[in-house]
Amino acid sequence: MTLMLGDIKLIYQKMAHSAMAAGREPNEVSLIAVSKMVPSKDIMKAFDIGLRNFGESKIQEAKEKISQEPLAVLNDGIKWHMIGHLQKNKAKTAVALFDLIHSIDSIELLEKINKHAGEIGKVQRVLIEVKLSNEFAKTGLDKELLKELIEKSRTLENVRVEGLMTIPPYFDNPEESRPYFKELKQLADKFGLHELSMGMSGDYEVAISEGSTMVRVGTAIFGDRCAMKSTGGMK
Ligand SMILES: *Cc1c(COP(=O)(O)O)cnc(C)c1O
Repeated sequence: MTLMLGDIKLIYQKMAHSAMAAGREPNEVSLIAVSKMVPSKDIMKAFDIGLRNFGESKIQEAKEKISQEPLAVLNDGIKWHMIGHLQKNKAKTAVALFDLIHSIDSIELLEKINKHAGEIGKVQRVLIEVKLSNEFAKTGLDKELLKELIEKSRTLENVRVEGLMTIPPYFDNPEESRPYFKELKQLADKFGLHELSMGMSGDYEVAISEGSTMVRVGTAIFGDRCAMKSTGGMK
């Protein structure tokens, strides 16, 4: 796989098309390039062609990439997103590294983040990851607990809940993700939250048509992660 400007252009075109078809402005949706397992040199290439938002799912991997050359020098120019499950004992590192944490799934985690953000004088922007399908989902907060968590967040000075995130079960047909995206949008509206992190390589167009403001796209930008692993990176 090669990272090509043409591919990114095509993704932006599809994003804009889906937004406009839904009566939305293309600039209401941002593209987060999911760079987990992607070597830093390839993240650099994506930066060079204009991408500025990157998503990582493991703290240790993210820390190494963000703090070492060649990416360290760009740090102010990149917005890093934590999209994977976050363990409480990694909250401090996450606060130090990320602009936006998408995966808040408990009050305890939110409190830890608030504490560590306070220590460094930061207001940490976060999203709450909601589990909409009890049957399949491994991560996320039960939607019944959402109200309590949001109320709690209003008492914490160093975290700001900006929206919701979800990962629907995997379907071959992206249309099957639609009910999950619709439900997340309804929940966000109900609680007056504006950001919706939903949609991945296979279903970002459907997600945008249902109100997504951030799509998390890995494979469609960087290629197959399994292939990357076996060849030691993109060629
Ligand atoms: C890996 C990952 C993505 C990107 O998935 P692709 O199908 O490669 O686009 C998006 N969101 C989360 C939470 C992920 O872990």
